Amino acid sequence: MSQPVSTLPLCEARVAALVAGVVVIGAGQAGGRAVETLRAQGFSGAITLIGDEPDPPYERPSLSKEMLHVTDQETIAWVQKPEFYAANKIDFRPGTRVAAINRGQHSVTLEGGDEIKYGALIIATGARVRHLNLPGASLQNSHYIRTLADSRALRQRLVAGSRVVVIGAGFIGLEAAAAAVTRGCAVSVIEIGSQPLGRVVPAQVGAYYEALHASHGVKFYFNTSLARFHQRDETVIVETGTGDMIPAETVIVGIGVIPNAELAGNAGLPVERGIIVDEYGCTADKFIFAVGDVAYHFNPLFDRHILLESWQNAQNQAITIAKNLTSLAGAVPYAELPWFWSDQYDVNLQMFGLAEPEADCIIRGNPKTKSWILFQLKSNRMICAIGMNAARDLRPARDLITMGAVLKSEELADISVPMAEILRREKRERALVG
Ligand code: FAD
Ligand code: NAP
Repeated sequence: MSQPVSTLPLCEARVAALVAGVVVIGAGQAGGRAVETLRAQGFSGAITLIGDEPDPPYERPSLSKEMLHVTDQETIAWVQKPEFYAANKIDFRPGTRVAAINRGQHSVTLEGGDEIKYGALIIATGARVRHLNLPGASLQNSHYIRTLADSRALRQRLVAGSRVVVIGAGFIGLEAAAAAVTRGCAVSVIEIGSQPLGRVVPAQVGAYYEALHASHGVKFYFNTSLARFHQRDETVIVETGTGDMIPAETVIVGIGVIPNAELAGNAGLPVERGIIVDEYGCTADKFIFAVGDVAYHFNPLFDRHILLESWQNAQNQAITIAKNLTSLAGAVPYAELPWFWSDQYDVNLQMFGLAEPEADCIIRGNPKTKSWILFQLKSNRMICAIGMNAARDLRPARDLITMGAVLKSEELADISVPMAEILRREKRERALVG
């Protein structure tokens, strides 16, 4: 699966990149890793990195975690030190927005009218927050969390004793709720669905997070839509669809994201959920690639296109595609098992694979404790493992998923059988057969 495969289109893109340079649109994690990798691989052509934020590329996970927990120090995870770009002859243009891609001319047009030529183009424009479209929703006490500026503004608001309403019980909402509770705020969470994290995890894990937050005093409103926000002096009253009036000094909205795929769509590239790319990150145009949150990419492990909004995907997809653009040995498909994590209170969640609604769920350990795992199996093969404070047992689980091992549910549920032992046995048996 991960054998290097030479592909003619990539050869053309490599030559074009060397001759006319690489332009990267979007200076987030994926854009930052792409340009860093190009130089690390010895690429000597021109590189231009264009980002509409004022800062050099940084990683976003701390924005809803460490950044919100303290106000006296900042924990910014720069992709590279700010001076890296100039030192490596990367033409980094912060605060600059690309308005259009002109495929015929091999150029991009900046807002303001300037044009920049490319040999190869990497679109790493990520995603933007979905906005609440409600009367009063733009009141100044309403906060979203996507950028450094958003997180800086919000952390000043989490004052002990104040009331916070969180809209959306996804990862952003729950991580922000945990931070607000830790800062001494009284927190309510309003979720349109029937459980937390409904989009990504099975009901058992959602129920665990509901109980975890409730044990810290968080009040949930599920199956609850919103009617409008009212401003009363410094207080916002959130009116729900059922007529509840919930007062707060601060409202945090985390209701999902929208991929920034319009530039590609307007240039005639196929878009479905995100920009459609193959396992090499290549769009329908052999000189244009897309990586990170914006890429609806073909993953050979799943034999289908998937869109991932995660640190791992932004990081490793960008690195793989940038290496392919410079490698003389051929191209390697991006085919990684999805992994992501979340930190809330003293619980570290890690998830390998993608959960599926119809898969069998096996519980290992006791969900009433702080450490347990939910495995998902299909036809006795593990497809997903979600562990709470269970990193050691998750590593063998990850390998069992990628091996496609046929497993016994009773054994997985039995904490007296080490996961490492199950993996060792599987490897031994395969070695004997092989
Ligand atoms: P982005 O980070 O969105 O970067 C894209 C950049 O392109 C942005 O700066 C954008 O402004 C810019 N841009 C867009 N259009 C243009 C244009 N036309 N011209 C110029 N620039 C443009 N993932 C995990 O796995 N674990 C976590 O714990 C986790 N925590 C997170 C916490 C928060 C608060 C957020 C917001 C995300 C979190 N994620 C987490 C997800 C992860 O951060 C994202 O998947 C990752 O940032 C995606 O990187 P990206 O470079 O593809 O896109
Ligand atoms: P999300 O995972 O899509 O969750 C948003 C939640 O809000 C969903 O449950 C959604 O329900 C609900 N919702 C939608 N509209 C609503 C409304 N009007 N009122 C109340 N609830 C509503 O998105 P997110 O939590 O905002 O996260 C945004 C991005 O950041 C994602 O890319 C996410 O992966 C990333 N992120 C990741 C992590 C992590 O991996 N640890 C941490 C933070 C952020 P429906 O599903 O029914 O629409």
